[in-house]
Amino acid sequence: MTMPQQVTVLGATGSIGLSTLDVIARHPQRYQVFALTGFSRLAELEALCLRFKPRYAVVPQSSAAQALQSALQVAGLATRVLVGEAGLCEVASHPEVDAVMAAIVGAAGLPPTLAAVEAGKKVLLANKEALVMSGALFMQAVRRSGAVLLPIDSEHNAIFQCLPGDYARGLAPVGVRRILLTASGGPFRQTPLEELQRVTPEQACAHPNWSMGRKISVDSASMMNKGLELIEACWLFAAKPAQVEVVIHPQSVIHSLVDYVDGSVLAQLGNPDMRTPISHALAWPERIDSGVAPLDLFAVARLDFQAPDEQRFPCLRLARQVAEIGGTAPAVLNAANEIAVQAFLERRIRFPQIASIIEDVLNLEPAVEVESLDSVLLADASARAYAEQWLQRNGR
Ligand code: NAD
Ligand code: MG
Repeated sequence: MTMPQQVTVLGATGSIGLSTLDVIARHPQRYQVFALTGFSRLAELEALCLRFKPRYAVVPQSSAAQALQSALQVAGLATRVLVGEAGLCEVASHPEVDAVMAAIVGAAGLPPTLAAVEAGKKVLLANKEALVMSGALFMQAVRRSGAVLLPIDSEHNAIFQCLPGDYARGLAPVGVRRILLTASGGPFRQTPLEELQRVTPEQACAHPNWSMGRKISVDSASMMNKGLELIEACWLFAAKPAQVEVVIHPQSVIHSLVDYVDGSVLAQLGNPDMRTPISHALAWPERIDSGVAPLDLFAVARLDFQAPDEQRFPCLRLARQVAEIGGTAPAVLNAANEIAVQAFLERRIRFPQIASIIEDVLNLEPAVEVESLDSVLLADASARAYAEQWLQRNGR
């Protein structure tokens, strides 16, 4: 019998983290939880520790660490509680770890995800912001370390499944003409444009097909999520931005497609449930049960497609521009978006102002070459500062 794989779940208390743990719990012979990390909802993290008995847990502050450490000790667990970014990087790169689920949201996930890549782990990438920010550096680190990078984003996981099995990660797959990235269009696909001025965070987070964290839900409503995914696809599959076409597909049953030069178009279909890509990546190249119900095509009945409207979704246009520019531009776009989304969730700005902030920050901060992680982090910090200034001037 082979030993169970040791899995670190970064962002265990989130939507992807919990789905990952649901899959792991179905296969105790195959997977063991090595470390769990959480940033808020620490009572839930404690409950997850009691259930999965990890070697390590990671929390943001030492006060929270002490509280969790004593609670787990009282319960008879030997779990060691670590703190902050150093703790995250330690459990992402620990020699005994086989696989790391990178499911922290936003730029905060970059250091531990990169640490996992540099340590040559099997990296299950949900944290698209990390790759968008550091693109070339990230992919160089994958090649240098021999890390196995598997996409969790449902679209990229679908594309991965539709590519030849033996293609080398980060190199352009042979015979591919286009990547067709599907998008549901989110909750505001048909909302009259003038009403977008008045939509609330609750409406933005009520996604028609997927249940997700709040940040990615707002990104889906603005279609910045698809913009980030376009950039993500370019890095993962060595595609040019012009080769990636966004297709609105409201049913979210086709998760993306690959168009080959001979006219073949391959698609991956399934119910919209992240446990499918998570199971695929965890077990790859094998297949395991994910708990997802089989697809009922008769219930789905029809599949619709339409072209995206960039007037309705200016974030998509901005992301495409940024993908063409390269350098630090994607990091700037990502940082401005993170600040803008948070401000929208806090009701400091109206929904259409998310795109305005990003566009203004992109104009204020010209892209430079990415020479090191420092240049990425510098661009990220300065974009955040510009976005905060914008909020001071124009926010509520
Ligand atoms: P979420 O908000 O539900 O969970 C985020 C997790 O990150 C939580 O565990 C939280 O505690 C942790 N976290 C937040 N801020 C942190 C910080 N500063 N430092 C350390 N940890 C922090 O988000 P989610 O929906 O699970 O998404 C996670 C990532 O996966 C995102 O990058 C998202 O784009 C991507 N993703 C999610 C889905 C989905 O269906 N939810 C699909 C595709 C991709
Ligand atoms: Mg996606």
